[in-house]
Amino acid sequence: MTSALMPTYVRADATFERGEGVYLFDKTGCRALDFSGGAAVLSLGHCHPHLVEALRQQAEKLWHTSNLFRITGQERLAERLVRCSFADVVFFANSGAEAVECGLKLVRRYHDENGQPERYRVITFEGAFHGRTLATLAAGRNASHLAGFEPMIEGFDQVPYGDVEATRTAVTGETAAILVEPVQGEAGVRVPPSGFLRGLRKLCDDEGLLLFLDEVQTGIGRTGRLFAHEWEGVAPDVMAVAKGLGGGFPTGACLATRAAAVGMTAGSHGSTFGGNPLAMAVGNAVLDVVLAEGFLDGVQDVAADFVSKLAPLAEGNNNIFNELRGSGFLLGLRCGPDKTEVMESLRRRGLLVAGAGDNVIRLLPPLTVEAAQIDEAVELLAGAAEALAA
Ligand code: PLP
Repeated sequence: MTSALMPTYVRADATFERGEGVYLFDKTGCRALDFSGGAAVLSLGHCHPHLVEALRQQAEKLWHTSNLFRITGQERLAERLVRCSFADVVFFANSGAEAVECGLKLVRRYHDENGQPERYRVITFEGAFHGRTLATLAAGRNASHLAGFEPMIEGFDQVPYGDVEATRTAVTGETAAILVEPVQGEAGVRVPPSGFLRGLRKLCDDEGLLLFLDEVQTGIGRTGRLFAHEWEGVAPDVMAVAKGLGGGFPTGACLATRAAAVGMTAGSHGSTFGGNPLAMAVGNAVLDVVLAEGFLDGVQDVAADFVSKLAPLAEGNNNIFNELRGSGFLLGLRCGPDKTEVMESLRRRGLLVAGAGDNVIRLLPPLTVEAAQIDEAVELLAGAAEALAA
């Protein structure tokens, strides 16, 4: 039968009925170890009891009012995000692309308010992924994503990732901001050279630009710190987060300093569903867990253990995996054979992983994954590598 869905995705032929922690179950009860993490969304795994309870309680009270009224959970989540970050103010959206769009509008308004409306261009990086709306597509400049959707929205300049000097050269009197992922997830878990974000921060300060971080994938503990930029000890002016913030409930947020958000006045931006009570209840519940004393230290320890067990796989001489990349639980293994063949072999063995650019498979377990489940994943990876090499 022809599907009624637009065929925009290439899907694995698998359907799941139930999830519990790091496991997914199909209707026959067959279990898979889920290291695809719903594309880096499942910060606390499937159906975490604290999130389920928060959502259930909210669902019995109030689902939606729209932003015509004050929303208690939204004010609370904004205050908590502000308290644990560089930001002073937050706008809630429903997805990563929308959070980035908000930031792109914000940087234009900032310069407009400051009497420099000619500063509207944003520098982005080769390999970047910021979403699938028209503006975020233009920011990413991925030719295959743009094919047939041109003309591309104007106002983006692109330079090689990790190259501060090339970025400096690209700055003109029209540049408003630099938009960058601290680690490029979709491009293949590309980690920039140490000091890259610090270099960009200095460049922004020298040139009066806003530093806009896309932490949609890296944020909310994925790299072992609440936000990945903390590893470099720099603070942005604007930041988009999404994925892990809702732990599977669609939500996103654009965070900014009060100075950067000067133009985001009443009526300047909006979203019917953004900051909806259900999403905010889950977002607050995610923070209850992730911000608990010692939680992120534990993530770093288990992630380091995972890396030490994965490294021999990437160093083996069968060339099934030839490079290990990443930070915390945003890890990538570059494959020798086509990654889809590797992913299929892993899926048949019961391990789900996510694909990425540069022939990389991403390993994105929940932050709550346990050592025994890490061992199980490493064993399945080793088994698949051996079978593929044979
Ligand atoms: N930015 C980054 C860094 C992402 O990884 C993604 C999604 O993968 C997005 C933005 C877009 O998020 P969404 O698909 O929720 O719109």
